[in-house]
Parts: sequence; C-alpha cells; structure tokens
Amino acid sequence: MHVKSNPDEIQSFLSDASFIRDGYADRVVLPETIQEVSEILSAANHDHTPVTISGAGTGTVGGRVPFGGIVLATDRLNRIKSIESDRAVAEAGVILADFQRAVDQKGLLYPPDPTERGCFLGGTVATNASGARTFKYGPTRNYIERLKVVLASGEVLELRRGEKNFSNISNIPLPKYRPPATRKNAAGYFGSANMDAIDLFIGSEGTLAVICEIETRLVLKPQGLLSGIVFFANQADVLAFVAAARATLDARALEFFDNESLNFLREKYPNIRADAAGAIFFEQETTDETEESILNDWLALLDQHHAFADSWFATNEQDQARLREFRHQLPVLMNEWFARYRQRKVSTDMAVPDEAFAGLFRLYYDTLRTSGLRYTIFGHIGDNHVHVNILPRDEDEGARARELYAQFLKYAASVGGTLSAEHGVGKLKREYLRLFYTDDQLREMAALKKTFDPNGILGRGNIFSEDFLHA
Ligand SMILES: Cc1cc2nc3c(=O)[nH]c(=O)nc-3n(C[C@H](O)[C@H](O)[C@H](O)COP(=O)(O)OP(=O)(O)OC[C@H]3O[C@@H](n4cnc5c(N)ncnc54)[C@H](O)[C@@H]3O)c2cc1C
Repeated sequence: MHVKSNPDEIQSFLSDASFIRDGYADRVVLPETIQEVSEILSAANHDHTPVTISGAGTGTVGGRVPFGGIVLATDRLNRIKSIESDRAVAEAGVILADFQRAVDQKGLLYPPDPTERGCFLGGTVATNASGARTFKYGPTRNYIERLKVVLASGEVLELRRGEKNFSNISNIPLPKYRPPATRKNAAGYFGSANMDAIDLFIGSEGTLAVICEIETRLVLKPQGLLSGIVFFANQADVLAFVAAARATLDARALEFFDNESLNFLREKYPNIRADAAGAIFFEQETTDETEESILNDWLALLDQHHAFADSWFATNEQDQARLREFRHQLPVLMNEWFARYRQRKVSTDMAVPDEAFAGLFRLYYDTLRTSGLRYTIFGHIGDNHVHVNILPRDEDEGARARELYAQFLKYAASVGGTLSAEHGVGKLKREYLRLFYTDDQLREMAALKKTFDPNGILGRGNIFSEDFLHA
C-alpha cells in the first residue's frame, strides 16, 4: 500500500470540479487490494478517523473533498479483470474511457457515458452517473450487476442484482420513501418499491462503503451511429424540434445548447454560424439496412423545424468523436470560467417530470434574461434535465446568482422534481436536500447511514447536514 503525506503530493486529492478550495487531510492512502482497503477502514473505524473516498476527482459537488482525516484513493485498484459477451468485471479505479475502449474492442457497449470520461468507474457508481446516452439507456444503476464493497468496519460485502436482503447483516429494512417521478435522480439514497440491496450503494456518494469491484452488464455495440449538431435561428424552433424528435424518432441522445452556450463555444469553434441561436446534439443507432431511412427521417424533421441546412453530421467514429468533443468542451469552458473568477459555482442539476419541464424552462429564461448576469443553459434536454450555469464576476453577482438558484430549486421541488439528476448532492448541495425530502425521509436515510457506518467515518459532510446524523 502506498501512503502520501507530503503536502505537495496530496494537494491534488484535496479538491474536485466543485472548486471547493479549503479541503485538507493528514494523508492519502492508496490501497492495491481489497484486503488493504479492509485493513485501512478497520483501523480508521477503531480510531474514529474520518475517511474520504477519492475517485478521479471530476465530481462537481465536493464529494471527494476532505475536511480532516485521511483520503482513501482508489487509483491503484485499477484492473479490468474480465470482459465476457454480456458482462465485465473491473476495479473501482479503472478510468471510464479505458473501460469503454476495452469493451468497444470486443464489439460491445457499456452505455453509461458522463460527458467527462476521465472519471473512474467507481466514481460513476458512487454517483449513479448519467450522460447523453442515458436518454435511451438509463443511468449507471441499470448496468450494475454485482458490487464488492468494504464497509466502515472493514467487513467485505458482496451484493448481487436481484438480492433483496443484505446476506451478512440482518434486520436492515430497505427504505420506504419513493423516488421523484423524474427520468433521472441522483439525490439521496435510492428508495423504490422493488429495489435490490445493491441499489442502496449505487449513488451513495462515498458515505456507506468503499466500492472496490464492479460487475457491469454490457450490450451489443450498435452496427452504426448517426450523430449531428444541428443549428436553429430561434429557440422556439429548437424546443418544437426536441418535442417532435422525442415523439417520433428513436434517438439515443438529445442534448441542448442555448445561444449563450454557443457564444462560449464560438471562442473555440469560430465556424458556428453567427445567426445560430440554439443547437441540438443528437445520436441515433443504425444498421446497414436502416442507415439511409434514419438519416432521411432526421433531415425531414429538421427541415420541418427550420434547422439550418449546413448543420454538422457524422457517420464515422472519427467525426463522431469530434462532435462529442464539442459537447464536452462546454462544461470544460464553464469550469475554466469559475476558476478564473474564483467564484462559487452556481450550477443547476435539477430534473422535473415530463409535464413540468416547459414551466421550469420558461422560469429559467424569464428570470435570467432580465437579471444582467451572464449564464448558459445546456444539457440533457431529452431527459428534462438542462444545466443552468450562472457565471458571476464578483461577490455581488454571486449573491444574486444564488438567490436565483434558490428560486429555481423551490420551483423544481414544488413540481415533484429532483435536486440532482446526475451529479449528486456532495457537500455543495446538502442543505437543499430538505426542499426535496421531508425530515422523516431524511431521517430514514440517516438511519441507514448510521447502521452501516455507526461512527460516521465515511464521506463526512456528504449528502447529510450534521444535524440529521446526530439526531
Ligand atoms: C466537464 C465535466 C462534465 C461532466 N459531465 C457529467 C455528466 O454528463 N454526467 C454525470 O453524471 N456527471 C458528470 N460530471 C461529474 C463527474 O464526472 C461524475 O460525477 C463522475 O461520476 C465522478 O467520478 P470520479 O471518479 O471523478 O469521482 P470523484 O469526484 O472522485 O468522487 C465523487 C463521489 O464519489 C465518491 N466515490 C468515488 N469513488 C468511490 C468508490 N470507489 N467507492 C465509494 N465512493 C466513491 C467520492 O467520495 C465522492 O463523494 C462531469 C464533470 C465534469 C468536470
């Protein structure tokens, strides 16, 4: 096992993409086996030492930022153990892009695909990550068949899809609360009528156990893929196009860029038309037989909704990678902005049920257009889940941005939405969870946490306000 305690060496483990800057820890331990993970946790539990679990640090809500104690970094648990026809087994520290590439080389597909593929497989399970393809395939949860986890006590637990009880621990009821009626949800512990025990750990944000080994389900790689970035002169056309595409075509991704997002991207992509006011990135899987008719269907729909004829299409993997990179650049540019102005991130991750999305979208625009603040709206519109990034340049703008954020949160909560569709709650958003769950429901979550981690050493500060854990 490797241990780092030199301040220069551990610096990179003290932050993530949330830009919380004041994290600190005594040391970073890098186990290479599950046995070592178990030994670290057992000793920390004995001493009541806080343990923050670290993946690649691409999380946006401060989940892996430590405030004291030790960091357990999963970087060296990084072996892909097997890839079979419909299953793969890998350790938590495998980089998602490497895993996807290895699977792809076998003619298979691992569908979960957060825009940032430098994250670790374990991090994506701990946050129940989603991505553009979630529109067709659902979130990470749907592809997790088995987990090997280590509890705070050091006990190793194996959890299999389909098992309703915890084999080694009796008398732990599964949660009674139910998830919101949104297409995606990553806020708080999962609860659902027919959930399996494994589901509790998926999306638990480093608070219940260290996820060490992951068995995933795989699907066949589609024969072909059509993707495009299509531009429109006005936003009403974009929204009408999305509604029609959702109803009539079998897209696997439908991603939105508003005019402000395009303005950001123009810095890197000067070939974006000056008169484009919005754009959609789409993907649909094809076969040799369907390729032509699917292209014709998209072209007809685009024409009907007045898309610019010189939009960008891709049918080979190289061009498709370029279009995906275009999509990836936007959150990267946002993060560069937050870093440059040293402002707290004001970035929404709410999703709402289908029938409530138009209202939320209108609220975003009506308030932001007149706010005088710089902002972007982009993301997973197919799943009623767009990210609003408000970009404050000073403290005063930061305070106004947070007021607007609070307004958006209240609205989303009032229509049955979720605080987080994909990034999780972490430390940045835990105070807001109260808007979306009752105190009783939060107490039920906290009780589960206390059952698995009675000394509260794991992921301290994530998901829960302190008062729920000490009540
Ligand atoms: C540019 C950009 C784009 C992004 N796009 C998306 C997107 O489209 N969809 C999406 O869902 N997310 C997105 N994210 C967020 C992020 O990439 C995901 O949340 C990712 O799953 C985090 O993985 P990580 O390995 O970096 O985890 P970290 O940031 O290291 O940790 C995240 C949380 O998981 C816990 N954790 C990590 N590993 C383990 C483990 N082995 N066992 C238990 N707990 C663990 C940590 O304690 C922490 O609470 C984006 C981030 C960036 C910067």
